[in-house]
Amino acid sequence: MLFQLRCEACGCAARTLCAQCRDKLFAMPQPTCEGAVVAVAYEGIARRLILSLKYRNRRQVVPVLCALLAQRLIQHLPNVSTVCDVVTWAPTSKKRVRGRGHDQSELLARRLAKEIGVPCKRLLIKTSTNVQTGAPRLARLAGSVYSARNLRGGTHVIVVDDVVTTGTTMRCAANALREAGAQQVTCVAIASALRHGLRR
Ligand SMILES: [Zn+2]
Repeated sequence: MLFQLRCEACGCAARTLCAQCRDKLFAMPQPTCEGAVVAVAYEGIARRLILSLKYRNRRQVVPVLCALLAQRLIQHLPNVSTVCDVVTWAPTSKKRVRGRGHDQSELLARRLAKEIGVPCKRLLIKTSTNVQTGAPRLARLAGSVYSARNLRGGTHVIVVDDVVTTGTTMRCAANALREAGAQQVTCVAIASALRHGLRR
């Protein structure tokens, strides 16, 4: 099968993303998101690229999304490569990974780690997807519970997600990492579908 050279955002002849769409993507304003560093709002070109990664397995959009995320993260944390020890991600359920052929958060985390020069490791395990009634409210809201591998004291972890929707995934992942010994957790995402940051 011939590899189609089409801009993933506008469909013109280009490799992955045409120069105009790339400029538009990088010019998108950065939303303020309390509790997380988010590159852009989940709309326009950013939304189209994320959807093509998620549902059409277009892995070639990962580098451009991560270049943007790295740029925004470095603005927020200029010395990120020295203060952060490890990059990780909140894993998607195995069933979904099988269906899609990849875990988009893992792809993004691995690429972001390369961009900023920090090692990437799988630290989180999804321990449950069907949370029982009677579980803590946060867990029920999330619909998933994570546990993390033990970390050295003082570790600063970056946890990556594609889209922040309710913020509960990020919060649960961050809590698990702190319980495992992380001193600091920086949540980062490509896009935010939230209006007012992570709800507490
Ligand atoms: Zn285009």
